[in-house]
Amino acid sequence: MQLRFNGTAPAWPHLLGTMHPFYPVDEPAFMGSASYSVLENNNGSGWEILIDAGHNTLPFLLQNRNRIPDVVMLTHAHPDHILGIDWVVQSNRFKHPEKLLPLYCTRLVFDRFMQIYGHCGEYVEFRELFYGQSFSIAETPGVEITAYPVFHGAGGAGAVGFFIRNTDPKQQSVLLTGDLLCPLFRKADYELLQHASALVVDTNNLLPCPASNHISLAATIPGDEEKEPLLQRWFQTVSWKDYLQAHNSGNEGNTSYFDTLQHDFTEPAQLPHTIMELLKWLPIPEVHLVHYFGKYDELYYNRGLLTREELVALANETAGVEKIRTRFRVPVVGGVIKF
Ligand SMILES: [Zn+2]
Ligand SMILES: [Zn+2]
Repeated sequence: MQLRFNGTAPAWPHLLGTMHPFYPVDEPAFMGSASYSVLENNNGSGWEILIDAGHNTLPFLLQNRNRIPDVVMLTHAHPDHILGIDWVVQSNRFKHPEKLLPLYCTRLVFDRFMQIYGHCGEYVEFRELFYGQSFSIAETPGVEITAYPVFHGAGGAGAVGFFIRNTDPKQQSVLLTGDLLCPLFRKADYELLQHASALVVDTNNLLPCPASNHISLAATIPGDEEKEPLLQRWFQTVSWKDYLQAHNSGNEGNTSYFDTLQHDFTEPAQLPHTIMELLKWLPIPEVHLVHYFGKYDELYYNRGLLTREELVALANETAGVEKIRTRFRVPVVGGVIKF
């Protein structure tokens, strides 16, 4: 099984009028929003699960296998993760008029999807995700998926990450965070998730900017002088209510999930809000950094934008200081993780 990177960019890899050193402007693949395909095998045949489709995902899919995914899953309903879904749905509608396209997402994400793409509603089969409940998929045997809630701000209602497990006991699993400020894993979830062989994580920011609703690489970076404690100030203004209302769909199963979460952690400040902190909970050996933006680091910390090599070097150096033994990578578009 493989997880393929269909794109790794944030919503706006380059803002018009500027250039970002991380994303070569003459290579369209680098403009592709963070999107993934889980592929059954290495030889190009077999089933395919598409996870998110934003800017430039569809041109990538046309150039790579050019087939309709068997199943689509959404982490959340921000434009850079759903812009391409209409194109996928319409492709399936014309090619398989008798078959609805299975669409896995939370109720809140589906509600938002329907506000934007109401005309797609009659061509998809909505399959609701429930937090922490593993499931298999008839169309894609051999893989087991679990959706976990993440906090990605009020605008990221119903946002999830996915734990993707190859059911062959000799094989491995991948944890994909999606966009997040912090994961909402319960304590027991960490025991399962730490066995993931690879982590794919949102790296929008190097340093904390919680108002961006994205996690950062670390709380401090080697060589930087002490900066404004934005995270500490944030924790003084937020409560569980803020974090959980982004997930309040009235669903009973999800309610008991959050009861356990609040039993395990008395306040949101106890949850990991940086990648380094997350890796202390989950010592996963291989970490793939995606969705790097860096503009908030420029705005709030006066730190320049990084190239791909600089981001990997900085992540390794920071982890070294924090005694975290993990290998960091910046994935290539079209590259794969085998598991
Ligand atoms: Zn995004
Ligand atoms: Zn987002």
